[in-house]
Amino acid sequence: MLDIRTELTTNPKEKPAVDELGFGHYFTDHMFIVEYTEGKGWHDAKITQYQPIPMYPSSMVFHYGQSVFEGLKAYKTVDGEVLLFRPDRNFARLNKSNERLVIPAIDEEFALEALKQLVSIDRDWVPNALGTSLYIRPFIIATEANLGVHPSKNYKFIIIMSPSGSYYKGGINPVKIMVEQQFVRAVKGGTGEAKTGGNYASALKGQEIAEKEGYAQTLWLDGKENKYVEEVGSMNIFFKINGTVITPELNGSILAGITRDSMIQVLKSKNVPVEERRISINEIVEASHNGTLEEVFGTGTAAVISPVGELKYLDEKLIINDGKIGEVSQMLYDTLTGIQNGTIEDTFGWTIKL
Ligand SMILES: *Cc1c(COP(=O)(O)O)cnc(C)c1O
Repeated sequence: MLDIRTELTTNPKEKPAVDELGFGHYFTDHMFIVEYTEGKGWHDAKITQYQPIPMYPSSMVFHYGQSVFEGLKAYKTVDGEVLLFRPDRNFARLNKSNERLVIPAIDEEFALEALKQLVSIDRDWVPNALGTSLYIRPFIIATEANLGVHPSKNYKFIIIMSPSGSYYKGGINPVKIMVEQQFVRAVKGGTGEAKTGGNYASALKGQEIAEKEGYAQTLWLDGKENKYVEEVGSMNIFFKINGTVITPELNGSILAGITRDSMIQVLKSKNVPVEERRISINEIVEASHNGTLEEVFGTGTAAVISPVGELKYLDEKLIINDGKIGEVSQMLYDTLTGIQNGTIEDTFGWTIKL
């Protein structure tokens, strides 16, 4: 394994107040960075002060978008322990994204070791108020200074960390979602399965339209027939219809969420029927009309669960569970956040103690 050089800051920052945290505004004192050079591999790993990175304007990532990222969280328990939630899955997924974007693989064990060292150093930045966490953003960018279109010969793999506030300050309020008709997020064979910035850039337009109409996010349909449900915003989506929880199967254009996988496992452990299959928007409209559409929710690291209270499709507004969070959504939220915060026993072996 590579050595990690540590250069601690001599200038620690003041930590923001918990209720000012929000999401993604503040960064901890340190970051991890390792370089890749063709022929030499990954080298010069270090933990150093969080700071700007010098790059040439011709760096490939600025022009052709060769980059991948991850998102995970560290939580502080009531006993002051710091827990990471399934970080091994994030680094495994980072390598899957790397493969799609022709970025060299990272050593997953080494990345986890680097992450543990970084979080330990900035341990005091993990907030401990209920619902707060330290958001962790590993990412890789193509840094070769060259405008030719080819996979970059140089990369930087960086991990930065941001203390984040409670997502649900005023309680869990379901959101209104608009089914997108014109634009698509991803198609099979594209990059939808990879966690890469381009997917987010192409989703901004739909998001903007939804927001203009007073909706929080876009529900994405498949890119071929405009018929089957794929994701909601940048979350996976679940529907509870007549007692069965259904989520779109991983079909090549859907991002394999770690929260999604965790929810499926929790549902199975509680004997709630759960299906991974294709589900059309028409099936959802029909279920709503005949009164069997019981719950709808998105899942992802940032919110864990985001219940949907209204779905707008064409000219119709489907109201779900009177616009309130459902029983299963609440159970899943409580179970997962309980495991993450260490208040519920982790029978799945998902958390890693620092
Ligand atoms: C990151 C992401 C998710 C959620 O994945 P988690 O591992 O659960 O955080 C879902 N959809 C998209 C498009 C994503 O980028």
